Amino acid sequence: MSNPEQSDTIFLKSLGKVSDTTVFNFLEAELNKIFKIPVQIDSPIPVDPSAYNEKRDQYYSPIILKQLSKKERHEIILGVVEVDLYVEGLNFIFGQADIRNRKAIISLARLRQEYYGRKPNQNLFQKRTLTEAVHELGHVYGLSHCLNPQCVMFFSNSLRDTDVKGYEFCKTCRKKMSIPDR
Ligand SMILES: [Zn+2]
Ligand SMILES: [Zn+2]
Repeated sequence: MSNPEQSDTIFLKSLGKVSDTTVFNFLEAELNKIFKIPVQIDSPIPVDPSAYNEKRDQYYSPIILKQLSKKERHEIILGVVEVDLYVEGLNFIFGQADIRNRKAIISLARLRQEYYGRKPNQNLFQKRTLTEAVHELGHVYGLSHCLNPQCVMFFSNSLRDTDVKGYEFCKTCRKKMSIPDR
């Protein structure tokens, strides 16, 4: 288990333009409550243009993750992108983690109601963003997928899964996380 140390900080970094920057303040506050380590909003960087796949009109997630790994070797960084992400074998992904380098990335593209032709819902959008962020950071903390559909570490195949599970760890996963009680 690669449990982060007390001295660690989670850095939030946007790659490319993120249209709703209030989401960073929300994540900063909520992730701090959940992981009990400092959270800092880091300076944005552009998305590596080579990640773009014209045929799919999507961005290849591993290239963007690699951008983060190159930057700060051991820091925990959560990258946030507006663009739609994919990996081989999947139509899209909500996020991805590079456990060894302690880097994670989430995409906001499919978390808004508007994406599905529905009315905007800011609360729901924020809750989904937090859920995906906690999930990927859970991987960074060494957790694998959990079979409990109510646990944040459950694998989301669809947005429905994300909405059902929410951002809380189940008891078992929480134990594995060994987050200090303070
Ligand atoms: Zn996962
Ligand atoms: Zn769990």
